[in-house]
Amino acid sequence: MVKRRLRFGAFLIAASVIMLGVARLLSHEKMFRQTSGEYIKWVDFSVTAEAMNDTLEVSLDAYENGYDADFVKLLSYLGAKYGGDFKHYKKKDLTEVYDKIKSGEKLDTIGAKYNYYPYYLEAYGAVLSEYVGEFYIDGKQYYGLRAFSPIAKGYYYNHSDDFGASRSYGYNRKHLGHDLMGSVGTPIIAIESGYVEALGWNQYGGWRIGIRSFDNKRYYYYAHLRKDHPYVTDLKEGDIVTAGQVIGYLGMTGYSAKENVNNIKTPHLHYGIQLIFDPSQKDGYNQIWIDCYELTKFLSQNRMGVIVSVNGKDRVAEKDVIIYDIPD
Ligand SMILES: [Zn+2]
Repeated sequence: MVKRRLRFGAFLIAASVIMLGVARLLSHEKMFRQTSGEYIKWVDFSVTAEAMNDTLEVSLDAYENGYDADFVKLLSYLGAKYGGDFKHYKKKDLTEVYDKIKSGEKLDTIGAKYNYYPYYLEAYGAVLSEYVGEFYIDGKQYYGLRAFSPIAKGYYYNHSDDFGASRSYGYNRKHLGHDLMGSVGTPIIAIESGYVEALGWNQYGGWRIGIRSFDNKRYYYYAHLRKDHPYVTDLKEGDIVTAGQVIGYLGMTGYSAKENVNNIKTPHLHYGIQLIFDPSQKDGYNQIWIDCYELTKFLSQNRMGVIVSVNGKDRVAEKDVIIYDIPD
């Protein structure tokens, strides 16, 4: 009996030494991150439209039924489980974790068994944190997807996964964005709300707009906008734009040091999303641009309808959501 008690005592001591060690390691890592200015330097965003759609469905159900199954947290859990590679995605994994949540487990506790869960929370949060949540239409509250496809409803486009393809204008470089082929004049919609950080001519992008999200973590770059009338009337740097608002028109400007020149062969919108965890990443060496192909597919379910007004006469293109003017 005495021997057993001794053994148990030794076990307790060993366990507390281990726990103390783990706690020290964790606080050390936290300190390291805080004092050394450590920040995320790379994000490989491989989350598929299928996984985002399934996860949106689960988070809508959770919202209605009062469970804590946040969209970003669920995807971060899956990201940690798959080591960031959503080729391994199975709906079953999502259903299983949601069942655990429904039976009372906390998503953070379930995620905590993966070392990289906090990384994915921060990385995927930087991409998606504003995309799903509460929003208001005419004073009525809704919950769901509140980010938009960059192409207005009713306008044709086609695209393929062209992230990382090589481009040679100016210098050999990689394509750090996504091209949506469409026709000149197609209304371009703000994917997310934010403020206009850059607007005007750029040798590569032609007429372009840069919009920064309110949390400062995303920089949206929309380029090759239409010659002569690239932007929605009166838009300027510093303005606030709202998700779903028309910001400009598809075109073929760019690849020229001279302003207002069409040097792009195929009319298209080039858009890119840059993630910024530290201000030095905006224009420095550690720039992070993500592949937007799957994201574009996911956002295609939320296309803003527009009413086109030509010379004061309304031509209804889609349902009555937003009005903008095309000057003649
Ligand atoms: Zn492009």
